[in-house]
Amino acid sequence: MGLVVQKYGGSSVADAEGIKRVAKRIVDAKKNGNQVVVVVSAMGDTTDELIDLAEQVSPIPAGREFDMLLTAGERISMALLAMAIKNLGHEAQSFTGSQAGVITDSVHNKARIIDVTPGRIRTALDEGNIAIVAGFQGVSQDKKDITTLGRGGSDTTAVALAAALDAEVCEIYTDVDGVFTADPRVVKKARKIDWISFEDMLELAASGSKVLLHRCVEYARRYNIPIHVRSSFSGLRGTWVSNEPQGDQQVEHAIISGVAHDVSEAKITVVGVPDKPGEAAAIFRAIANAEVNIDMVVQNVSAASTGLTDISFTLPKAEGRKAIDALERTKATIGFESLRYDDQIAKISLVGAGMKTNPGVTAGFFEALSDAGVNIELISTSEIRISVVTRADDVNEAVRAVHTAFGLDSDSDEAVVYGGTGR
Ligand code: ASP
Ligand code: MG
Repeated sequence: MGLVVQKYGGSSVADAEGIKRVAKRIVDAKKNGNQVVVVVSAMGDTTDELIDLAEQVSPIPAGREFDMLLTAGERISMALLAMAIKNLGHEAQSFTGSQAGVITDSVHNKARIIDVTPGRIRTALDEGNIAIVAGFQGVSQDKKDITTLGRGGSDTTAVALAAALDAEVCEIYTDVDGVFTADPRVVKKARKIDWISFEDMLELAASGSKVLLHRCVEYARRYNIPIHVRSSFSGLRGTWVSNEPQGDQQVEHAIISGVAHDVSEAKITVVGVPDKPGEAAAIFRAIANAEVNIDMVVQNVSAASTGLTDISFTLPKAEGRKAIDALERTKATIGFESLRYDDQIAKISLVGAGMKTNPGVTAGFFEALSDAGVNIELISTSEIRISVVTRADDVNEAVRAVHTAFGLDSDSDEAVVYGGTGR
């Protein structure tokens, strides 16, 4: 008998009907002879609503209480799901993250899992139950406070439990049929990928693809847990993410796995930086001390006449204020002229291990953008990725143009979005 972990996202359990539909799927997996552990997210937009509520009460809510509040969302869905399963004549028990043994550090709102001790889940399974676990939450090792893992953290809960329970597979049920060659909300002709490596999936996640979170894929790679991303609305096979393809999983011998885009970043340009050793170090030390994570960095050659250069970098929009404040404070010591802040940008990335051995990918990427009339502002590359920054207004057109240029369009409009916001 195999053990499967299934995770259902908020849009799959958005209302009572959704919960009953998901309960049937879970029971089917059990009837197929599996032990079943289910990780569930909060219903629909519950987490957003709880955040709004907290902000109305206090502009900067304390981390501990904020986490206590947010974990309520998953407790609602786990209990309702257990009830719906019992109503179908099967045994089910729900567990909070803490009861399931999800132990974290004590960084509220973005805690990291440091251990999983699923003793109670094992017992529940051995007694013939389906175990339902609240996603996105745990308990801190030192203070025993309730923590949350950061937005979208239920996927990580699922992979962590799958690893701790030595599951055969971690199935992530969502509102699209799998991982696509581009966001199906933007590219109607996006194709579903049958199999993708952890490596390419990590780059897609880091480049803005929202179907799986980076941290979840990282965890799955570390413990070698195959992930099957699929829709809870259709019966279709989805996308397998693993080290090596198994059985009849199709490997597309394409050079490119997909096109990702991200509109959550902003760009800061430090104008008129003296071109001498130590300047970039001082700028990025100030940014690091403010605990801001940066992404792309570009420095221009300095103008011979002035000996001054410009340095641009991207960062999450949400951290823009912090970064600008930190740089303003060091303006006199670093000696730059001014700062420019621009949050109307988008990042578009092309990802695929095949680009390592195929010349011309970069040229093809830039030609596709130029044919679409899209201007490139910044460029950065890794071994298996090329990213550019463009105007935010151009993003959808640019993604479609690049998708077409690399022959990724499917013959049919197969990309179906069943629900949710794609967040
Ligand atoms: N409910 C949480 C969120 O909306 C966690 C999750 O859905 O994975 O971010
Ligand atoms: Mg989610």
